[in-house]
Amino acid sequence: DLGRNRFCYFSEDLEQELTKRHELVTLLRTAIDTEAIEVYYQPKVDLKTKEIIGAEALARLYDPSGKLISPLDFIPLAEETGLIHQLGEIILKQSCMAAKAWQKRGRPLQIAVNIAAKQFTNPEFCDSVAKVLELTGLDSSFLELEVTESSLMYDFDEALNVLNTLSSLGLSIAIDDFGTGYSSLSYLKFFPVNTLKIDQSFVKDMLGDEQSLDIVKAVIHLAKSLKLKLIAEGIEDAEQLQKLVALECEQGQGYMFSKPLPLKEFDQLLNH
Ligand code: C2E
Ligand code: MG
Ligand code: MG
Ligand code: MG
Repeated sequence: DLGRNRFCYFSEDLEQELTKRHELVTLLRTAIDTEAIEVYYQPKVDLKTKEIIGAEALARLYDPSGKLISPLDFIPLAEETGLIHQLGEIILKQSCMAAKAWQKRGRPLQIAVNIAAKQFTNPEFCDSVAKVLELTGLDSSFLELEVTESSLMYDFDEALNVLNTLSSLGLSIAIDDFGTGYSSLSYLKFFPVNTLKIDQSFVKDMLGDEQSLDIVKAVIHLAKSLKLKLIAEGIEDAEQLQKLVALECEQGQGYMFSKPLPLKEFDQLLNH
């Protein structure tokens, strides 16, 4: 009886899925209680000089066996369960502490921290950012928050409020994964945005696919006309780099330069 078997498989899968989910939520709770979430740092580089000009903070979580769990798995769950607020604050605090340390060592770098949609729309978010800046003593000009277009489009007026408040704190705002949203571009006129990040899918495809290349060109042109900082994500090889330099894209990040690194290793890279 095929139908019944199928049902069996399905329900076993579902049960496994629920167990996995439950374990991950427990892990997230523990990570929050013990501040055991780790932040990795990926350099942002000047594409011409290859000099490190900043870093993006990317959260990493280990399961009890020491296996790394991707943020693509735990961030959505943290959002669903509301744990993202505490988790996000811990990540922000660690990131700002790292940036403060770089500054103290005479190597000031701006740190970019990803903000989930759920965090962004939390009424207490701006206060929590201000609190972390105060606590860590980081000058706000060294902090950039990366948000996606979809977090901004969820509630346009509210997003405008939040961005204005954040911007009045003196920090920068970047639009992450730019080009993958469905929104109109008009929001760029109203929102205090500083940086566009070209999504890595376009960089990945631009050498083999004319349309991706056209999108990359259009985003570079848009950033220049609007006087926004521009950064290309996901640069993996010399050909992509060469193309981006030819198109006058000035900043980038990607495995070609470095994967995201634990703080110690990032610091070693900085000292080179
Ligand atoms: P994102 O912010 O767009 O980050 C870029 C992702 O691309 C990172 O994956 C990074 O490790 C990866 N990457 C960097 N260079 C390359 C490259 O050359 N090739 C390829 N194939 N990938 C590259 P990661 O760390 O797994 O993060 C995935 C997403 O999870 C992030 O996308 C971001 O949306 C989210 N995320 C990560 N950390 C946090 C966090 O602390 N808070 C929040 N809210 N979201 C986070
Ligand atoms: Mg990002
Ligand atoms: Mg991105
Ligand atoms: Mg992304």
